[in-house]
Amino acid sequence: MERAAYLHAVMKKSVLVGIDLGGTFIKFGLVSTNGQIIFKSSVPTPKGRQAILGEFVLITEFLRQMAQKQGLRLQAVGVGSPGIVNADTGKIIGRSPNIPGWQGAEVGKTLTKATRLKISVDNDANVMALAEHRLGSGKGFSSGLYITVGTGIGSGIILDNRIWRGAHFAGAEIGHTIIEKNGKPCKCGKCGCVEALAATSAFIEYYGSKTPESGGVKYIFDRAKKGDAKARQAIAIAADYLACGIGSALELLNPEVIVIGGGIAAGGAGYLQAVRQGLKKYASASCRQRVVVKSAKLGNDAGLIGAAMLTQDTH
Ligand SMILES: [Zn+2]
Repeated sequence: MERAAYLHAVMKKSVLVGIDLGGTFIKFGLVSTNGQIIFKSSVPTPKGRQAILGEFVLITEFLRQMAQKQGLRLQAVGVGSPGIVNADTGKIIGRSPNIPGWQGAEVGKTLTKATRLKISVDNDANVMALAEHRLGSGKGFSSGLYITVGTGIGSGIILDNRIWRGAHFAGAEIGHTIIEKNGKPCKCGKCGCVEALAATSAFIEYYGSKTPESGGVKYIFDRAKKGDAKARQAIAIAADYLACGIGSALELLNPEVIVIGGGIAAGGAGYLQAVRQGLKKYASASCRQRVVVKSAKLGNDAGLIGAAMLTQDTH
């Protein structure tokens, strides 16, 4: 190779692949090393462990070719996955109810062998937390609790600018902390979890149980804006339960920022305000007064950006 061609090759700008595995779609994209999306797309999630792993390889090869055409060099691949993930080996070690058969998948090993690239894998809530911490609402804070409120409640904890995973990668699950003894059954098998009392289905139930009309999250927020007292009450109940869970987390962690995302948080400032109000009851002044409660900034892109950023993270 001529020296000029050689220099051109080594000087190529590096890019990353981010893959965000969900129960319905796999979102993926090419992301710059500072977290900007260069290209993004999605495919329906295929059924079965091998089919999903095969899809990851196809996505990576597709993006590698795309990068090459743009004169970019693919450096690493990051994957965010539901379930408990061993971030050291990239293996799915816990159940992920929305993706049957996924437990046991050797994501790290399979992709390393197939692509010869550096592969990083972590829990989807952890990578979302990382994205918001680096580029979103948590930027500038060294510690934070990042919560996504949707059909489930996922969360990630950043302490001293690093993801806190727990000794066995099973930590940071605010959704499954119990806030009501012998309360409503949760999908995890326990009762009275934050998820059972504050996620989408509970929220809709608080509205539906008081009126024959029933609607989705957006409908309830629209009704609240129009002055529907029952809708406002449903928002207040769901927000109060979430605040109860967050209150205990504040006592334990004393983070600088709480970032809340997902379908319900997107409903508006009224929800966040109700969470802040609730915290006055559930957290002592010393850990509550200076905490900043914000809505998430990166929306649906947080998963793939965070997955890509994970490859730059040393742990
Ligand atoms: Zn639970």
